[in-house]
Amino acid sequence: MSSKLQSLEKLQDTIADTFALYSAADGEQFAKGYRKYPKVWRLVTTSDMALEKALLSYFKKLAKTVATGINWQQYEQRVDKVKQASVLDFIQVNWTDQSLLVKVLLVKALKDAIEGGGSFVELETAINIGWTADNKYAQTFLQKYAVKLSGNLNKSTIELVKSSLDMSISLGESQSEATSRLINVIANPRRAATIAHTETVRAFAGGSMSVAAQVGVDRKRWDSTIGACPICAPLDGMTVALDKPFTTGIFSEPAHPNCRCLTKFLMPESGKPAEYDPDEVAKMVIDQY
Ligand SMILES: [Zn+2]
Repeated sequence: MSSKLQSLEKLQDTIADTFALYSAADGEQFAKGYRKYPKVWRLVTTSDMALEKALLSYFKKLAKTVATGINWQQYEQRVDKVKQASVLDFIQVNWTDQSLLVKVLLVKALKDAIEGGGSFVELETAINIGWTADNKYAQTFLQKYAVKLSGNLNKSTIELVKSSLDMSISLGESQSEATSRLINVIANPRRAATIAHTETVRAFAGGSMSVAAQVGVDRKRWDSTIGACPICAPLDGMTVALDKPFTTGIFSEPAHPNCRCLTKFLMPESGKPAEYDPDEVAKMVIDQY
């Protein structure tokens, strides 16, 4: 390996460690296993950081789009007559377009996490299937996942916009007061960080579950992070069949927003590889939320 590449990787590792340290304040810290292989660790943290950055910049732009899309004349009328039709009626925003924009940024940012999840299983089982984010199972998972997640994010953004405007109307706020309330609600760095941390872990699980099925894993074991929350702590060490849920009804990490636990995988004791459908197993990761 060239010394240039080595020093670049060293720099990436320093950035990854620093990021992991400060972002642990948002919730759980990463379970130890994520750091076990430098390649996996780089991929996971790269996704997490990229998604947080992309979401925040998207939310900032969206805040402006929403603020300029409001018919303020209608808003003023509504301030006088509280509780008429939905406030969304006087906002000109194409939410379908917004959903597409989110989908594109999710696909771009979460590729590394999916690759990292699959690589983790390859390294753990010492079975290399040449997994990358371009693998057909990775692509199927990523597309389905990005569609569902962008739809869900869009829905919760619309709810936030609605409740912000409802609040402004009931308080009789001026246009500038209502605008700054909206901008604070939409361009929220905490929300961007939580989504990034949670969805990076989910994308990682999509990759790991898919590769686990492809290499013939038959069981999975929950690995809670140090200082895990009351939801995750009781799951620590629990082992179930690959296609079965843990006792709390979930199939894989994340168990809650900001969860950074990890699923580990076990090959059949008989030595005969198990046969699970990778698409079905990866789909469980998305269906459970
Ligand atoms: Zn957890």
